[in-house]
Amino acid sequence: MGKPSKPENEEARLAALHSFDILDTAPDKGFDDLVAIAAALCAVPMATVSLIDSERQWFKARLGIEEAETPRECSFCAHAILDPDTVMVVDDATLDARFADNPLVTGDPGIRFYAGAPLVTSDGFALGTLCVIDHQPRSIEPAQVEALRALSRQASYLMELRKVSRKLSLQLREREWYEQALQNYQQELEEQNADLAEQTRTDPLTGLPNRRAFAAALSQAMERSLRDGQHLSVAMLDIDHFKTINDLHGHAMGDEVLVAIGGLLRSQFAGGGLAARHGGEEFVLLLADCNADEARLQCEFIRESIAMLPMGLPVTVSIGIAQFRRRDDTVEAMFKRADEAMYAAKRAGRDQVVVA
Ligand code: GH3
Ligand code: MG
Ligand code: MG
Repeated sequence: MGKPSKPENEEARLAALHSFDILDTAPDKGFDDLVAIAAALCAVPMATVSLIDSERQWFKARLGIEEAETPRECSFCAHAILDPDTVMVVDDATLDARFADNPLVTGDPGIRFYAGAPLVTSDGFALGTLCVIDHQPRSIEPAQVEALRALSRQASYLMELRKVSRKLSLQLREREWYEQALQNYQQELEEQNADLAEQTRTDPLTGLPNRRAFAAALSQAMERSLRDGQHLSVAMLDIDHFKTINDLHGHAMGDEVLVAIGGLLRSQFAGGGLAARHGGEEFVLLLADCNADEARLQCEFIRESIAMLPMGLPVTVSIGIAQFRRRDDTVEAMFKRADEAMYAAKRAGRDQVVVA
C-alpha cells in the first residue's frame, strides 16, 4: 500500500487545522447537507467531509460510512491534500498501485471509486477534503468535478464562518465577565465608602455621633426651626473632675465612665433629638422642640440619672444650655454660649444645670 506522504507545510497545516477547534465536535447540519448534495450530484452512496489530523482522518460529516475516523495511513483524502489545487479522482482503486491493497478497498467499506476535492483555507492550507465514494468503479464528468470543487469551497467557508462566530461568542462572554467583575468591584468600593463615611461620623469609643456629625444635624435642625418656628436648644455636658477619676481609678475606668454616659444619653435621645461626643469628656445634646424651661427639666433629669449610674464611684456632670436665637445665630455661636453656661455651672459648684 502506498502510504500517503506528509505535506511540506505539515506542522503549520496541523496548527491551522487545530485553530478551528472542529475535531471531535458534534455533527452539523450545514456539513451534512453538503455531503448529501455531493452524493446526489455524483449518484454515489458515500460522501464525507474528512479532516486530516496528524495520525487519523476524522469525518466532520459522513454519509454511508460507519466509522467516525480511520488511520491516516489508509486515508484516500490524505493523498488528495498533497495537491490542494486538484480534485483527486480514482476510477477503480483495485487498479491503482497506491490503493489496491488498502484495507478500505480489500475490506469494509470496499472502496472502488473515489473523488476528493481539497478543503483549502483562506491562507492556503489543505485541511482535508469533501469527497464522494462508491463500491463500484466509475468515472466522473468534468462538470461534476467542478461541482465537487464548489462544494468543497462551501465547506471551507462554513469552517471559517464557524471559527469566527465561536471567537465572537467567546469575546462576548469574556466581556460579560469583565462587566460583572467591574460591577462587583464598584459595589465593594461603595460599601467601603459607606463604611468610611460612617467612621468619619462616629466616635469609636462610645459609638455616638461625633462633633462633626452633630454640627451637621444641628445646622439642619436650625433650618427646620426657622421654617416651622419651633424651639431648639443645645446643651454642653462636661464630666466633673474627670481628670481625678482617671488619676484615681485609671484611664480604663475613665473610658468605662465615658461609655456608660454615652449609653445613657443614647437611650435618652432614642425617641428624638440627638446626643454626640463633643470631644474628651464633653458631650453635646440637641434638644428639639424644647423651650428654656423644658430644656432645663430634661437636663436636670439627665444630670440626676448620671449621678445615679452604678459605676462604683461618684460621677457628676455640669450642663450648660443655649437656646437658638433665630436671627443670625450659628452652630459655633450656640456651642460657645452653651460652653459658657457650662463653665458657669462649674464655677457655681458643679453637678448642676445653667441656662445661658
Ligand atoms: P472639670 O470638672 O473642670 O471639668 O475637671 P476635669 O478634670 O473633668 O477637666 P480637665 O479638662 O482638667 O480634664 C479632662 C480629662 O479628661 C483630661 C483627659 O486626660 C481626660 N480625657 C479626655 N479624653 C479622654 C478619654 O477618651 N478617656 C479617658 N479615660 N480620659 C479622657
Ligand atoms: Mg472638659
Ligand atoms: Mg470635666
